[in-house]
Amino acid sequence: NRRIVLACRPEGAPAAANFRLEEEPLPQPAEGQLLLRSVYLSLDPYMRGRMSDAPSYVEPVQIGETMVGGTVSKVVESRHPDYEVGDWVLAYSGWQDYELSDSTGLTNLGADLQHPSYTLGVLGMPGFTAYKGLLDIGEPKPGETLVVAAATGPVGATVGQIGRIVGCRVVGIAGGAEKCRYAVDELGFDACIDHRAEDFAEQLAAACPDGIDVYFENVGGEVWDAVLPLLNDFARVPVCGLVSQYNATSLPEGPDRSGLLMSQALVKRLKIQGFIILDHYGPRLDDFQRDMSAWLAAGKIKYREEIVDGLEKAPQAFMGLLEGGNFGKLVVRVGAD
Ligand code: NDP
Repeated sequence: NRRIVLACRPEGAPAAANFRLEEEPLPQPAEGQLLLRSVYLSLDPYMRGRMSDAPSYVEPVQIGETMVGGTVSKVVESRHPDYEVGDWVLAYSGWQDYELSDSTGLTNLGADLQHPSYTLGVLGMPGFTAYKGLLDIGEPKPGETLVVAAATGPVGATVGQIGRIVGCRVVGIAGGAEKCRYAVDELGFDACIDHRAEDFAEQLAAACPDGIDVYFENVGGEVWDAVLPLLNDFARVPVCGLVSQYNATSLPEGPDRSGLLMSQALVKRLKIQGFIILDHYGPRLDDFQRDMSAWLAAGKIKYREEIVDGLEKAPQAFMGLLEGGNFGKLVVRVGAD
């Protein structure tokens, strides 16, 4: 069994030296256990937080431990009554080829699964994050202007497309002309602005002539600076992620602008609400699964993946994710399906 462990904690952006590939003999299942073969491993921005020991909403990965992560795996040996060899399962095996499990936390997806990797993206955690955050916190209404950054990733692309289904004018923000073209031509956004453009703030203002009613926050930093002055009275801001800050080692230089933020929140009566999707795995998950399956089948939601072959490529691919190197949901194909 090959596994990638956290070798040491990163200072700033993660580097290859923070990871180590180890090998160990394949474990054998005891009675009540099963052996899982990871087929797809999800790489997600939150993993940067797990590499650091700063206080957060969950415990960090310890030095020498296997990096955590969601997987879609196949049962290759079973001594558990509820699982058969060949079943697909949604697991949390982390960055490794195999995992011994007693079934805790597993979801059995059955032997016949059309798009196994979608369970890590549009039909899984990132898709549910978009659905819950936009509909329940963002409360979008027809005719309103919705802005979302990281617009071609699994969360942002889904947010924007649900916004179009609701009837919003949707403006994306993405890194580079190719991603922006994709958001408009393929995903059906009304506009998409390149956050690397020199006149990004002016372009964003021009694309939002009626201001912004819902800003789904994925990135923070300079993008948020450009959004804040455009927010309308009673705008809603679901705070989902701040990926531009995850590698930061200190607060940015300059005057303290928290007073400006709070005065804007007051006079514009803003609703700014952070959320962690782990808190919401309740009844809304059923609504999500029903709606998203129907939207995908009807072609109303499109989904793009970037699949990287080989567990050993995971560190490099993950480093790229934090800088926009991915185009679509980043997934590692760990084993054959
Ligand atoms: P993505 O696949 O969209 O990857 C992150 C993207 O962020 C990059 O591709 C890049 O896109 C963009 N980005 C990186 N750095 C910057 C920067 N400095 N300025 C602007 N954009 C930047 O990831 P996900 O869709 O999986 O996640 C999106 C966000 O949602 C993340 O912040 C993540 O942490 C958060 N999240 C939160 C959850 C929760 O429970 N609250 C659950 C799941 C995700 P580009 O090239 O277009 O700039």
